[in-house]
Amino acid sequence: MARLIEEFAKMPGIGVRSAERIAFHILQARKDDVESFARVLREVKEKVSFCKRCNNLSERELCHICSDPSRDRSKICVVEGPNGVIAMEKCGLYRGMYHVLLGEISPIDGVGPDQLKIRELLQRVYKEKIGEVVIATDFTTEGETTALYLFELLKPMKVKVSRLFIR
Ligand code: ZN
Repeated sequence: MARLIEEFAKMPGIGVRSAERIAFHILQARKDDVESFARVLREVKEKVSFCKRCNNLSERELCHICSDPSRDRSKICVVEGPNGVIAMEKCGLYRGMYHVLLGEISPIDGVGPDQLKIRELLQRVYKEKIGEVVIATDFTTEGETTALYLFELLKPMKVKVSRLFIR
């Protein structure tokens, strides 16, 4: 039990008190439910990883968007996480490609540009001859910091850069 609590407490945003609550919840849950939960955990780790090109979640080397020939390959929309891709796709108006940074610049949490997939973005803009980059990071301090940083980096490149808020 102590080990289970310890494991949950390692998760982001979960303190010891919450970890204890989750552990006791599992202890009281039906055996079938717990087994199905364990199976999902194992499966997600085995099957799902990140797209080699855009870092979106994918069960294959390239995600469904990168491997879709009908998408506009001259545009890249930059988002912080795979949920940003989902939000943009829900709008249904965007037909370009994506680049998932897998995080946002946050000095308080010790996350700098080097920990994000920013170098990969610049390489793609250059190699894939991208004409337009749409920055759709969150409208939070961290999202804004990340957007400004990207604006500065992309400025010298021959690419149109715009800012977009998803909501
Ligand atoms: Zn992809």
